[in-house]
Amino acid sequence: MPTKPIAAVRAEEILDSRGNPTLAATVTLADGTQGRAAAPSGASTGALEAVERRDGDPSRYRGRGVIGAVAAVEGEIAAALLGRDARDQAGIDHSLVALDGTPGRSRLGGNAIVAVSMAVARAAAAAHDLPLYLWLGGCDARRLPMPMMNVLNGGKHADSGLAFQEFMVVPVGAASFAEALRWGAETYQALRDVLHEGGHSVAVGDEGGFAPRLAGDENACEAIVTAIARAGYRPGQDIAIALDPAATSFHSGGAYDLSRSGKGRLDAAGMTALYGDWVARYPIVSIEDGLAEDDWDGFSAHTAALGATVQVVGDDLYVTNTDLIRRGIAEHSTNAVLIKPNQVGTVTETLAAVALCRRAGWGFVVSHRSGETEDAFIADLAVALGGGQIKAGAPARGERVAKYNRLLSIERELGAAALFTNPYF
Ligand code: PGA
Ligand code: ZN
Repeated sequence: MPTKPIAAVRAEEILDSRGNPTLAATVTLADGTQGRAAAPSGASTGALEAVERRDGDPSRYRGRGVIGAVAAVEGEIAAALLGRDARDQAGIDHSLVALDGTPGRSRLGGNAIVAVSMAVARAAAAAHDLPLYLWLGGCDARRLPMPMMNVLNGGKHADSGLAFQEFMVVPVGAASFAEALRWGAETYQALRDVLHEGGHSVAVGDEGGFAPRLAGDENACEAIVTAIARAGYRPGQDIAIALDPAATSFHSGGAYDLSRSGKGRLDAAGMTALYGDWVARYPIVSIEDGLAEDDWDGFSAHTAALGATVQVVGDDLYVTNTDLIRRGIAEHSTNAVLIKPNQVGTVTETLAAVALCRRAGWGFVVSHRSGETEDAFIADLAVALGGGQIKAGAPARGERVAKYNRLLSIERELGAAALFTNPYF
């Protein structure tokens, strides 16, 4: 079999959706085939995730430039990959990790490495004239993911004052991805009306969800239920709610600070009781990072209390890292994992994290970052992995809808072979 040797690896500094620099890598094969991919960038990052390499030069982009990471791609990384077979994703990713040599990818940069790793996958797919989802997932890659659409933003993604970071709608009753997206978009527009009529701002946060200054976090759930009904859907049966409180961001001094919502400072048991109360009153199907990333004891009790009723997802808790997911499986910390390629660093490590979830019978949700680009790699990845869930922000803003629009194309391309099912019941 002819190989697909890599002939060039280039990178460029581009902008992400928050106006900060990130990098895009392009891998060119000997036959001229190219694959390009861009690194996204988080704001509520986990303490243990792969670190972005930034220049720290205050005269450019407030120190956030990525010229050093670009140079790493075109220098050391290119030298290591020239002549390598682009189909050897695992071997190439292993080499990238070894070349970096640091646990956090700080030397070459997690941003440099993930962009190259994804660009290699794209180049290999193109060399075989396959769509990325088929190259990564094989001929049975045909399940479209249920979208979790972030319609209200708080935490580190908005200045709304809400402690909780993400309030999402999940069209669990939809029959296809296209229908789910339409229901979500209609609910988003209805929510705009509900907020506007309530005298609230309809400006949006980093992931495209509205960022109103509501009196408290629970008011967000109420507004969403109102919007679901206003759009003509049944809360719960047609459209459910998912939460990502990203609780590390309001955890300090051993307590969760919900004082702005009038709940005071709660411990882990208090938070779990609060979620239990909400789950009884709102159609919530999934709660991500309901506790802080180092609250392992709290998570075991949290999942024991809530895990039979809702999906409990770990994001900052695991940072897509197999060692941490293994600990979570042993301690029954959650029953699902958020999957972000740039959090762990390479495509191969991402696939390893998903393999662990499957073995444990856990769910997994392929996810964007709050800082994104027009790159829709995760859309193909979600179909390739077949876990049936994606979170890619609001059904609005170009970098968010790039993912959803790509999924529409994939669903059309699959035609009658496409599968779409409710992953929660
Ligand atoms: P981030 O947040 O991309 O800002 O880290 C996303 C999330 O917490 O899921
Ligand atoms: Zn999260």
